[in-house]
Amino acid sequence: MNLDLTLSSLQDKGHRITKVRKEVVKIFSQSSQPLSANQVEKMLSQVNVTANKATIYRELQFLLTNRYLTEVYLHPNEVSYESSELKHHHHLVCDICGSIDNVTNCLVSKLEEDVLKKKGFQIERHMLEFYGTCSRCLKQT
Ligand SMILES: [Zn+2]
Ligand SMILES: [Zn+2]
Ligand SMILES: [Zn+2]
Repeated sequence: MNLDLTLSSLQDKGHRITKVRKEVVKIFSQSSQPLSANQVEKMLSQVNVTANKATIYRELQFLLTNRYLTEVYLHPNEVSYESSELKHHHHLVCDICGSIDNVTNCLVSKLEEDVLKKKGFQIERHMLEFYGTCSRCLKQT
């Protein structure tokens, strides 16, 4: 997600660029990991932008509806978000330190073809995340 391109794309569509909107887009353009609303709130306060939870949720919802962000479900009770421009990938979530890495090779496409053939169901998207122990934590155990 490129900050300037995203902001000009928003303007082209007639959306206002508020301070919060600009900062939220900036945060996602610089982040290599999915972020939850809580994390976005913390990062906003680090750059001295004060926004209440409702404003942040509304902003994330706006960017989601307009397809700048996609939802990621890494934890059962928390939604995370990441740029929708990222190449399709899956996440490796470490149960010990919480680090998140990406896997960009997807082996599900063969299965999707099979499902279409056998069930006549056209799969448009899927979510698949992996949980375990990262290499750094493995070395310490
Ligand atoms: Zn991701
Ligand atoms: Zn770890
Ligand atoms: Zn996949």
